[in-house]
Amino acid sequence: MNLESLNKKFEAIFSCKPQGIASSPGRVNIIGEFTDYNDGFVLPCALEFNTKVAFSPRADNQVVVHSLQYPNEKDNFSLSTDITQGNSQWGNYIRAVAFVLKRSGAQLTGINLLIESNVPQGAGLSSSAALEVAVGGAFNHVNKLGLNEQALALFGQQAENDFMDCQCGIMDQLISAKGQVNNALLIDCESLETSSVFLPDDLSLVIINSNYPRKLVESEYNQRRIDCEQAAKKMSVNTLRHSTIKMLDAVKKDLTINEYKRAHHVITENIRVIKATDALKNNDIGSLREQMNESHQSLKNDFEVTVPATDGLVEICKEALQERGAVRMTGGGFGGAIICLCRAEDIAVIRKAVKNNYAQNFNLEASIFVCQAGEGLTIIE
Ligand code: ADP
Ligand code: MG
Repeated sequence: MNLESLNKKFEAIFSCKPQGIASSPGRVNIIGEFTDYNDGFVLPCALEFNTKVAFSPRADNQVVVHSLQYPNEKDNFSLSTDITQGNSQWGNYIRAVAFVLKRSGAQLTGINLLIESNVPQGAGLSSSAALEVAVGGAFNHVNKLGLNEQALALFGQQAENDFMDCQCGIMDQLISAKGQVNNALLIDCESLETSSVFLPDDLSLVIINSNYPRKLVESEYNQRRIDCEQAAKKMSVNTLRHSTIKMLDAVKKDLTINEYKRAHHVITENIRVIKATDALKNNDIGSLREQMNESHQSLKNDFEVTVPATDGLVEICKEALQERGAVRMTGGGFGGAIICLCRAEDIAVIRKAVKNNYAQNFNLEASIFVCQAGEGLTIIE
């Protein structure tokens, strides 16, 4: 939807013009899975899919929010009393952001919000982080809080951790806030330093959602986090960032088999992120393929977060692309999406291979998104 239509919709709902529009993108992770909460490295890029939040200040202390994706459901809550969960599932994300900002001591005035997004929800492209960062951007602008992108990303993560009960790391919010057109971002999740990595012009980003129904994954995620923390503890380091395979093997007898395997994934994945970054910088698709392939195998065998549908999609695309592409699962796993990096002329090859081989073997329809690396948080006045 263009800005003019969004402005009109806003006026129709709130009977005033928006003061501005905050826009924040979804993301895809090229490599570096489950490394963020272990203080390691990740290499995501922001997408051109984004979530726009039109906003205007109010004279009272109410937050009134509508979403064009949920036309029959609005949420409103007061900033003067404790912010608690409401009846709207999606409205809770807005409450969550207001909750963490308020908790930090920020003085917030009432606000009207209208959300519009083309980020597919629940497809592994992190529509929730896009929403949190855009809403944070709107509060920041209206209340002149002076928060930079990194701070807004941290508030988005806290919103998800402390209000939505999802123990995610910092990757999704940070790339949504700081993404750059045509670039991926190498993020050091310990220092939160970022450096942009140019995506070669002739490389296409193809994201394929398996549409495998995710269920009961929360406890699985949390258990893996605990296993990583235990492994770090037994190696006497704060996080797995500061461990090596040599250190891991030295304490192997003290670790459960799962602690060993989870840590093995994280330690080797951090090395792969750095190698893949170099491969991208050199437009070396062979080396990129090797790192992404090993990442997938490690997520399958050591971290155990793939499912037959995502393993199958990866095999289908690898078979179709051969040495012309790099493929792996991306995102939180237990279903979700895979990513292929390939030349533009091979997109048709992927489409054909998926059409011919996925539905019939897995009884699911895949969704294919051909993407460009987009811009991070922007505020339009
Ligand atoms: P993902 O982040 O992978 O897309 P999540 O389950 O983490 O999936 O987040 C999806 C949730 O985010 C939705 O269920 C909804 O509550 C909220 N959300 C995302 N986009 C919008 C939107 N445009 N309007 C309202 N809520 C949204
Ligand atoms: Mg999410």
